[in-house]
Amino acid sequence: MKYFDNAATTPPYKEVIHTITEVMSAHYGNPSSLHRYGEDSARLLQKAREVCAEALGVHAGEIVFTSGATESNNIAVKGAALQWITRGKHLITTMTEHPSVFESFKQLERQGWEVTYLEVDAAGEVTEEQVAQAVRTDTVLVSVMHVNNETGCVQPVAEIGRMLKKKYPRVLFHVDGVQGFGKVPLYLKESGIDLYSLSAHKIRGPKGIGLLYVREDVSLFPLLTGGGQEGGLRPGTENIPYIVGMAKAVRMAKEAEKTVSERLKLLRATLMEGISRLPELKLNSVPEGAPHIVHFSYPGMKAEALLHMLEEEGFLVSTKSACSSRKAEPSRVLQAMGKLPDICLSGIRISLGDEHTESDIQDLIAALNKAVGRVRHLKGENLT
Ligand code: PLP
Repeated sequence: MKYFDNAATTPPYKEVIHTITEVMSAHYGNPSSLHRYGEDSARLLQKAREVCAEALGVHAGEIVFTSGATESNNIAVKGAALQWITRGKHLITTMTEHPSVFESFKQLERQGWEVTYLEVDAAGEVTEEQVAQAVRTDTVLVSVMHVNNETGCVQPVAEIGRMLKKKYPRVLFHVDGVQGFGKVPLYLKESGIDLYSLSAHKIRGPKGIGLLYVREDVSLFPLLTGGGQEGGLRPGTENIPYIVGMAKAVRMAKEAEKTVSERLKLLRATLMEGISRLPELKLNSVPEGAPHIVHFSYPGMKAEALLHMLEEEGFLVSTKSACSSRKAEPSRVLQAMGKLPDICLSGIRISLGDEHTESDIQDLIAALNKAVGRVRHLKGENLT
């Protein structure tokens, strides 16, 4: 089987698995304990924090370990809204955010906040001008993702962040960086970003662990209360094996960022070219998107049917994004891009990983070609 679903999750690096196993068996002390086992774990925790901070170009004290990006996004969005309630109750985000951001805003809206959901263009992009126009005197937070998880569209987050810092320095800026890290360079300190979410399992680390960068002079309302770990924002005994495993993945992904993204860019261009030659397939990703995601639709065809045909040929792909692919609803992201219902219901996402080669891409294009031929042949037999 060839795995082409890396935007859903990635195969962990062997070194990461090895590190986790070792830390789990040999360093099981609670980092809050005062004895030597506790101190040993506290040292590992601090080292992991420093490694992640260095990869992001921030200070170690600005890293909060969480259970993944869903939690990071919830802490950032709701924590900012609740903390700054006296400053105002207006928030800004986009129509194409991941559900962990989008639904956080929806929940706040139901609780009395006012949210501006920015429209995207046909490529899925928002502009710095749109954000500037939406800001009001009572705006407390703007949240825009770096790379869209369905289409790979790259948002101009550095431009948005710099504009906000210059014109509206009191407005906080959160970026969901999950699909961008290790693929599309972003310098947090130079981009006016106050809050940034990351997930380990999208960069060949373990599942169930992530981080939130919280700029040093930003305070958030803690959603959880407990023992005060992670600066009080994420209390609970720290998952040292996974935190250390994540730090390893973060470092490896950062070190490989340039070479991996250059290589994936070439593979993606070949794949997009191959797809555009298949007459009935419609590309939803734009050429300047992130180097690992290609999204297309086969109007008139159920996405699941095409997915299973590709699986029979030995290729694992995705319909929409993993977290919403079991829902038979049209993609909110594609709808926001103005795509017709037929396109929204027949979307397939192919997401590349650093293990892929040119010949994998050629084989995938051939399999797509075969599947399309089969569908055309079977159309009369009510397959679609
Ligand atoms: N944000 C984006 C853009 C994602 O793609 C994902 C995962 O699908 C998440 C957030 C949630 O990450 P996690 O699985 O770590 O909760």
